[in-house]
Amino acid sequence: MWIDTHCHLDAHEFGGESAAQAALARQQGVSMIVIPAVETANFPVVAQLAASVDNGCYALGIHPIYVPHAEEDDLRVLREQVAAAMADRRFVALGEIGLDFFIPMLTEPAMREKQIFFFREQLRIARDFELPVLMHVRRSQDVVLKHVRQIRPAGGIAHAFNGSFQQAQGYLDLGFKLGFGGAMTFTRALQIRRLAAELPLDGIVLETDAPDISPSWIHPGRNSPDQIPRIGAVLAELRGMPPQDVAAATSANARAALPRMGAHG
Ligand SMILES: [Zn+2]
Repeated sequence: MWIDTHCHLDAHEFGGESAAQAALARQQGVSMIVIPAVETANFPVVAQLAASVDNGCYALGIHPIYVPHAEEDDLRVLREQVAAAMADRRFVALGEIGLDFFIPMLTEPAMREKQIFFFREQLRIARDFELPVLMHVRRSQDVVLKHVRQIRPAGGIAHAFNGSFQQAQGYLDLGFKLGFGGAMTFTRALQIRRLAAELPLDGIVLETDAPDISPSWIHPGRNSPDQIPRIGAVLAELRGMPPQDVAAATSANARAALPRMGAHG
């Protein structure tokens, strides 16, 4: 069985088919799909969606791309809703949080500061509740590492990882896993394929980031969580291993990174 550690199953691209997509993924052997939130408005949506399918769990957080519209009061709302969600076994992490220094508007000085403020405050919430974090690290690996080293949440996942071996080691040394998905299915993606092939297997988890980051056989179409076994087969091929061994290892890694997912993953 496989685990999709990062899937925006509530995204409008799935229309009314989110639950059907989860069922299809289940038929393909995807035993758990982690659905991160992106803003306070979709906290109830991801919680309800995770509860409505056999193989769903969720995270609560404010995504860096949503920070421009976020208000400081959203952090109070997040803390309150996290406290309430601790009683829900499908709630597994703080996320999606992080820093995006790729989108030009987000790199302007004031917005950079606002992103860092929201990121640090959310790392503190994660630390206070002993929750792992699902992190967005686009063009920001070193700055994310710096803040994680200072605040020290209880581990988690650097999602859609695409950095250097040295940066990868920085996350692994802090007990984080690195998320790999559709990007490694492109033969021209030499660096990410080298990372996927050579990093310690116990540091790797699989993800789709659906509906985004579609694999080569779908690109530029809509990605979906049922693609995880085929994406996992690419990782198996890169590492010269049987796919079932990759499924077992990456699923165990996902459970280690997200302990609340535990046995029902
Ligand atoms: Zn995401």
